[in-house]
Formats: sequence, structure tokens, C-alpha cells
Amino acid sequence: MLIDVITIFPEYLAPAQLSLLGKAAAAGIVRLQVHDLRNWTSDRHRTVDDTPYGGGAGMVMKPEPWGLAIDDLLGAPTRRPQAPEPSPPGQVPGAGAGGSELLEAAGGTGGQGDEVTLVIPTASGNPFDQALAERLAGATRLVFACGRYEGIDARVAEHYRGRDGVAVEELSIGDYVLAGGEVAALVMIEAITRLLPGVVGNAASLAEESHVRPGLLEYPVYTKPAVWRGLEVPPVLLSGHHGKVAAWRDDQARQRTAQMRPDLAG
Ligand code: SAM
Repeated sequence: MLIDVITIFPEYLAPAQLSLLGKAAAAGIVRLQVHDLRNWTSDRHRTVDDTPYGGGAGMVMKPEPWGLAIDDLLGAPTRRPQAPEPSPPGQVPGAGAGGSELLEAAGGTGGQGDEVTLVIPTASGNPFDQALAERLAGATRLVFACGRYEGIDARVAEHYRGRDGVAVEELSIGDYVLAGGEVAALVMIEAITRLLPGVVGNAASLAEESHVRPGLLEYPVYTKPAVWRGLEVPPVLLSGHHGKVAAWRDDQARQRTAQMRPDLAG
């Protein structure tokens, strides 16, 4: 899977070099490319925002750099402005070094006609959940457009929604407002990529997790020692009786869901 992230803070994506995602990149299962949106600006100040039409507080991200950046990544013919400072080959200026693959931002990363999902993290988007993670894990290419300020000019999503070979997903990771889309992109990338074959060592561990069976959380889990600070592991888990363990876990999953998430339990 090829994942591009466009942001004005490439360093925010540095944690993607760690843990499972870092290993998935090293194993060639995932290729992550982080791009600095300011590479697609043409003015001396590398401006990416402007005041909102209609007035009001804050600034809005201008559509032009977004359009140029996304066109470039999709391999569409586009006019790329002269970057104020040329970037060293193979690395995006301002991007953190290391594990994730940080490539020269312009061109060559996606052929024309590729099926691409453009993910726009936004607090006003559709809720991102496990079912969506599973669906997006089936994509071959994801491009994340990380907004800042009051968000990205709405015409960017509208424009790409109408383009052949591009699916647009405006997605929210929860009912709260972040300062930018980078953390939301990281959340989604982690949830999606851990579902790819070969990323999680034991694929069976994906089967019984929270939200995998719709409307059900996972049962509580325990490890050694059998007694810790006077608290005992439930005896059934030490019984060696697989049927009883499975029944206990199922019951616990239901109880926990009813207690913690009555909205899911229905
Ligand atoms: N004015 C926007 C609103 O009321 O919805 C909030 C903008 S927020 C300060 C800046 C950026 O953070 C957004 O463009 C989006 O990329 C990201 N963001 C904020 N909350 C988010 C959420 N719950 N899910 C996904 N992305 C979010």
C-alpha cells in the first residue's frame, strides 16, 4: 500500500517510523511518503492560508497549493511553481528523517489512472471506525490531506470528488476538535495498516478485538503472575478448558460492552 501525507508539519508524522508501521515500511508492505504542502507555494512567504470569505475568526487553507500538490501526487499534468529553495534529492524539506520513506514531493509517485482514495481528516466528516479501516485497508493508494487553521477551502474536496479514479473520504476520528489533521491521519494510518497481511505477527489476534465483531468490545485480558497485589486472574482462565474460556470471554465482552458502551450494545 502506498500512503502519501500532505501537511505543513511533516515532522508530525515521525512516529510512523516506529513499531508495527515502521516494521511494515521496512518489510515493504507499506510505503509512506510525507510531503510539505509549502513546496507547492510560489510566494516568498510560502503562504498556505488566507482570511475566510464571509468574515469570521481564523484563517482558511488556500485551495491552490492543495490542488497543485494533489495533482502532482496523482501524476496529473499541472503547473508546479518554482519552490523558493530547492529540496535535496530524496527528502522533503522540513520532513523528519528516518524510517518512513520521505521522498521528493513532486511527481512520479502515482501513475495517471491509478485508483486513489483522498482522505481529508475533518471534525465535520463521517465517523472513522473499524469498518472504514477495514474498507480502506483494501485500497492500494491513500493520500491524506492534513488541514490546519479553520480547515481546507471546501472546493478542494468538491473538485476531487468529481475526478475519475479518485474517491474522496472526509473523515472524523471523534467528536472533538484537534489543532490539525496530522494526528488524525496517524490514527487512521495505524488502524488501517495493522490490518494489512503480514503487519501484525499473529493474524489471529485481529479476530477477537474490540469492534471487529460489530457492536462488541473485547473481553478483559490477563497475563502472569496469577496473583498481583492481591488480585487474582479469573480461575476459568487457568482451567485449560477451551470451551469454558471461550464462553467466559464472550460473556465478559457482552457485559463490558453494556457497561462501557451501551450505545453499541443497542
Ligand atoms: N473549524 C473546524 C471545525 O470546526 O470543524 C476545525 C478546524 S481544526 C482547528 C484544524 C484541522 O484539524 C482540520 O482541518 C482537520 O484536518 C483537523 N481535525 C480537527 N478535528 C478533527 C477530527 N475530530 N477528526 C479529524 N480531523 C480533525
